[in-house]
Amino acid sequence: MKETYPMLSVEEARRRILEHFQPLEPERIPILEALDRVLAEDVTAEMDIPPLANTAMDGYAVRIADTAGATPERPVRLKVVADLAAGYVLEAPLQPGQAVRIMTGAPIPPGAEAVVPFENVETQGDEVLIFKPYALWKNIRHAGEDVKAGQTVLKKGAVLRPQEIGMLAALGRATALVHRRPRVAVLSTGDEVIDITDPWQPGKIRDANSYTVSALILKYGGVPIRLGIAPDTIEALTAKIREALTRGADLILTSGGVSMGDFDVVKKVLAAEGEMHFWRARMKPGKPLAFGEIQGVPLLGLPGNPVSSTISFELFARPAILTMLGKRKLEKPTIDAILVDPIKRKDSRRHYMRVWLEEKEGRTRAHLTGDQGSGILLSMVQADGLAIIPEEVDHTPPDFPVQVMLIDWPEVA
Ligand code: AMP
Ligand code: MG
Repeated sequence: MKETYPMLSVEEARRRILEHFQPLEPERIPILEALDRVLAEDVTAEMDIPPLANTAMDGYAVRIADTAGATPERPVRLKVVADLAAGYVLEAPLQPGQAVRIMTGAPIPPGAEAVVPFENVETQGDEVLIFKPYALWKNIRHAGEDVKAGQTVLKKGAVLRPQEIGMLAALGRATALVHRRPRVAVLSTGDEVIDITDPWQPGKIRDANSYTVSALILKYGGVPIRLGIAPDTIEALTAKIREALTRGADLILTSGGVSMGDFDVVKKVLAAEGEMHFWRARMKPGKPLAFGEIQGVPLLGLPGNPVSSTISFELFARPAILTMLGKRKLEKPTIDAILVDPIKRKDSRRHYMRVWLEEKEGRTRAHLTGDQGSGILLSMVQADGLAIIPEEVDHTPPDFPVQVMLIDWPEVA
C-alpha cells in the first residue's frame, strides 16, 4: 500500500479532495433559517426602499419659498395645519404659508420641500417661527434612495449574514433559495473506543473524536449523522458505512483505523466497498488520512489521534463542507505572529503547532500550548490558533516569524 499511495502535500491532498465536491441543490426556506447559507438566486427589488419620500427628522414640513429671507431677527411665521405621525399619509397639498408637524419616517406631504427640525423653531399657538432659509430637500429621504425598484440587491453566491437577512425582510421576502446543508456521517472506529455513558473498563478510552467532529460539522453549517462507534472489524465497519449511505450522507467522516497497524480496517473497507483515491498527507499532526468514495459518496478517513483528527478536519473536511454549502472562501484566516518558543524537528512535514496568542508591543506573540503530542486534547483546548511551520524549516530560534491559522478570533489581552 505504501508504494501505490505516495504521501501528498497538504495542498495536493486538499485539491484532490475538493474536486469531488460541488454546491448541493437549493431549497427554499424561511429567511431566519437561512442565516449563514448561500443564496442560489439573484434577489431583485420589486419596489423602492424607502417606498415614499419621508422625513429624516422630527420637525415641520415646509415649502422652501416660504423660508426665503428668514433671519433670527425677522423669522417667518407659518400656520401649522396638520400633525403627521410615521405610518400615515397626508393627501392635501401644503399651501403657501402652511407647515405640517411631522415625525421621523412619515411621508412628506405633497408640496413640502424641506423639514425644519424641532430644535430650530419656536411655536406660538398654532404658528411656527422659522429663523433661516432652507434648501430644497433638506432633511428629506428620497423614495428609492436606498434601493430602487428593479435593482438586483443580492447576488447568487452571497452568504446571508444578519444584514442580508434584514435586507430580504425589507424587500418583502419571507423565504430565500439557498443551497441545502450537507449531511455528514460521523463514525469513530476502534475496539478501545467507548461512548460517554459506557462504563469504563481497563484498556478502553472515551470517544472524543465523534463529538469534536460533530461539533465542527455543526459549527461550519453541516448536519451530523451520528453513527456511533465501530469496532475494528471489516464487518462492523462495512455495516456502519452502509448505514451512512442509506441515511443519505453527502460525506462520510471516520476517525481512526487509517494508519499502519494490524487493525486499521478503514482503508481495507474503503478499497473493498468503493475506491481509495489517496492516503497520507505530509503534515503533523495527522499524517494518516485516507480519501476515497463508496457508491459516489466521498469518505474521508481522519486519523484516530484526537488532535490529528481535529486539525485534519479543519484542513480537509471544512472546505469540503463549505463547498457543498456553496461557499467560495475556503481558507481559515491567518495572521502574522512571532513564535516565542524555539522548536526543533526532524521530519520534513508541515507542522501545525497549537499556540495561544497575546498582543505585546504591537505584535502578536504565539506561545506553544505545552506538550504538542497528537493525543494531547488539552493542547487544542488551550489553543487560539495553529502556527504553521513550513516543511523545509527544521528548527526555529526564539521569536521566529510564523503564520498562525486562527481557530477562532482570539480574545487578546
Ligand atoms: P488509530 O489511528 O486508530 O491507530 O488511533 C490512534 C490513536 O487515537 C489511538 O491511541 C486511539 O486509541 C486514539 N483514538 C482513536 N479513536 C479515538 C476516538 N474516537 N477518541 C479518542 N481517541 C481515539
Ligand atoms: Mg484504531
